[in-house]
Amino acid sequence: MSTSERIRAAVERLRRGGIVAFPTETVYGLGADAMNAAAIARVFSLKGRPASNPLILHVAGAAAARGLVRRWPDAAERLAAALWPGPLTIVLPKADRVLPAITGGGDNVAVRAPDHPLALALLGEFGGPLVGPSANPSGRVSPTAAAHVSASFRPQDVLVLDGGPCRAGIESTVLSLAGAPRILRPGLITASQIEAVLGYPATPWQPGRGQESPAGGRPGMAEPLPAPGQLPSHYAPATPAVLFDSADWPRILSRTATTAILTHSGRTAPPPHVVLPLPGAAAAYAARLYAALREADALMPSLIAVERPPTGSADAELWVAILDRLSRAVARTDGPRNLLS
Ligand code: AMP
Ligand code: MG
Repeated sequence: MSTSERIRAAVERLRRGGIVAFPTETVYGLGADAMNAAAIARVFSLKGRPASNPLILHVAGAAAARGLVRRWPDAAERLAAALWPGPLTIVLPKADRVLPAITGGGDNVAVRAPDHPLALALLGEFGGPLVGPSANPSGRVSPTAAAHVSASFRPQDVLVLDGGPCRAGIESTVLSLAGAPRILRPGLITASQIEAVLGYPATPWQPGRGQESPAGGRPGMAEPLPAPGQLPSHYAPATPAVLFDSADWPRILSRTATTAILTHSGRTAPPPHVVLPLPGAAAAYAARLYAALREADALMPSLIAVERPPTGSADAELWVAILDRLSRAVARTDGPRNLLS
């Protein structure tokens, strides 16, 4: 099938209220007609996603985004002009036509224009907004290839548009402009890039802030803290996982059961351990990380050990976004430290 035939088939599926997984530059999204309540409900149920975790609306550009929000401030206009299509999601008070299920019942909606030719062609041909949560069961590792999506969903439930591996590899930066600019989720668009466009800083993302707060601003609060859906355990492989430092290395080597080791510094380890090398540069690391976590999982090791990413390097801001995903991938109620002992 030609690309335009594939797009047409996908649009037909969407018009009937069906679900289409589509590639973006970040990860694959589970697309559905944003104006179809039944389709939205199906996305939540297919993913097993908590109703409180809102969905990002995907649009072709700023013109479409304006129709989904109550106000489109100058800051949004400038950020969209400079960084869209791209991995920046903007949160603003929602227009009435945005279904409450999309925002987790909250007053704010998240919108972005994905930088991928197939995603933009799909949005163009469909002619309306699509929801696009990552195309994985809730809490699991996001898909960065079509095969990752097919591994989780049946073809009768989800039509997969194959656009090859995702270039960026981790989810978008989420920036709230509902109050003072605030980064709710770090990503490949950095605080510095946002500040360079705005001419003033956004409050940077801080670990552990605003988790699981109700969606939307609370009336009467000077500064809303709308960071719903930022769950402590997320992006998680099925195998228990842990972050390790140099000091932990002897303990990993002395383990008798197989450990899948993700290293960006060229470490080697003898059997029964298996080493999965990751790039040392942040952007390349991000592009490869989720596939590597899946490969590690497939080995069915007793433990996945991920070398802690460097801090204070040239790409410090990108490593912050990567560390956010890694921290959620290893988050377990029993505490990661116990897994190494
Ligand atoms: P995903 O669809 O997997 O990329 O995750 C979407 C994430 O975007 C959610 O888990 C939230 O953290 C964030 N998000 C989506 N909508 C909103 C919103 N209305 N307000 C704040 N954050 C949002
Ligand atoms: Mg997700």
